[in-house]
Amino acid sequence: MTPFLPFHRPDIGEDDIAAVVETLRSGWLTTGSKTQQFEEEFNSQIGARHAVAVNSCTAALHLALEAVGVTAGDEVIVPTMTFAATAEVVHYLNASPVLVDCQEDTLNIDIQSVEQAISSKTKAIIPVHFAGQPCAMDPLLALARQHDIKVIEDAAHALPARYRGKKVGTIGDITCFSFYATKTITTGEGGMATTDNAEWAERMRILSLHGISREAVNRYSPEGSWRYDICYPGYKYNLTDMASALGISQLRKCDRFGMVRQYYAGLYNDAFQKIPEIIVPSVSTEMEHAWHLYVIQLDLERLRIGRNQFIALLKEQGIGVSVHFHPLHLHPYYRKTYKYRPDDFPIATKVCERIISLPIYPKMTESDINRVIETVNMLISQYRC
Ligand SMILES: *Cc1c(COP(=O)(O)O)cnc(C)c1O
Repeated sequence: MTPFLPFHRPDIGEDDIAAVVETLRSGWLTTGSKTQQFEEEFNSQIGARHAVAVNSCTAALHLALEAVGVTAGDEVIVPTMTFAATAEVVHYLNASPVLVDCQEDTLNIDIQSVEQAISSKTKAIIPVHFAGQPCAMDPLLALARQHDIKVIEDAAHALPARYRGKKVGTIGDITCFSFYATKTITTGEGGMATTDNAEWAERMRILSLHGISREAVNRYSPEGSWRYDICYPGYKYNLTDMASALGISQLRKCDRFGMVRQYYAGLYNDAFQKIPEIIVPSVSTEMEHAWHLYVIQLDLERLRIGRNQFIALLKEQGIGVSVHFHPLHLHPYYRKTYKYRPDDFPIATKVCERIISLPIYPKMTESDINRVIETVNMLISQYRC
C-alpha cells in the first residue's frame, strides 16, 4: 500500500529547527532583534522601503486598510474568489466589502467588474494574486489612481513572484504576505506588510503593538526607560522572535523552494496539456508565478462524474487535494448579509464546481508528482464520456 500523499507538508529542515532553538536559548522570545532582522532581510529580498512583521497576513491586511484611512461606511472592493481573511478585515473597520467576479482563465480579479463596482464610497481595492500569479497590476493601479482609491495587495500566495519584472511587494500601495503553515515559506503563523510609504509603515508598526510608540526591545534594554506612550488604541499583532528566527531561516530557501515549485508546475503542465478533459492554469508571459497552488479545472461536459466525486476518488487512491476557493458570495454570511445570489458572479459560480488544487510543494519528490499525474490520468480515462 502506497502511503497517503498529503495536500501539503511544510519543508522544515534542521537549520530551521536550530534557528528556533537558538532563539529559545537566547532568553528573548517575543518581538526583538530577530524580528527586526527578519524585516530587514525580507526587505532586502523584496526591495520595498519598509517592511512590518506581524503575526498573520490577516493582521497585515487589517493594519494596511487602517493605515490608508479606511473607516466606517467606506467600501472596499474584494474578489469573491478568495479566502475569508481578504473580506473579513473590511468588517473589522465597519466598512463594507464589495465583491467582484474573477477571470475564467487565471481566476484573478476581473478588472471590468472592478470598474463597475466603484462608487463614491470606494476607498480601497484588495487584489489577490491567486495561486501565486500576480494580477495585471498596471491597469488596476491606473484605474485606482483615476478614482483616488488605494490598492492593498493580498500576496498570501505570491512569494516570490513578479509582474512585468517587478517584485510583488513593490507594486501597490501596501502588500501583505502570509507565513501560515501552508504558504510558500512559513513561520507557523505570521505575516508581513511592505510599503514605500514611511507614514503608513510607522502607523502599522505602532498599531501592531497596542498603539505604543516604542518597541519592547527598547523599553527593556538597559539604555531604554520604563516609560511608553499610547498613541492609538492599537492591536496585539506583533510577531515573536521565535517565529522570526524561523522566518529568517525559511527566507534563505525561498528562491530554491520557488524553483522546485516552478519545476513541478512544469511537469504538471506538460502532462495535463494533452488531456482534453483538463484545463491547465493559464499563465501570462508578463508574470513570474509563485506556484503556491496548482489549480486545474475539469471540463465537466466531457466527464461522467462531478468534481466532488473526482476528489473522493483521488483520496481513495491516497492523494490529498483541496479546493481554492469556495467563493465568498456562496457562503451563508455573505448570502444573508449582502443578499448575494450565485448568478451575481457567474464566472466564480461556474468555475468553483470545476476546480481542484493538486499537491505542489518542495517536500514532494518528482515521483510523488508522477504519481499524481498517473492517478489523475487513470481517473480521467476511466470516467470520460
Ligand atoms: C492564507 C491566506 C490569507 C490569510 O493568511 P494568514 O497569514 O493565515 O492570516 C489571506 N488571503 C489569502 C488569499 C490566503 O490564502
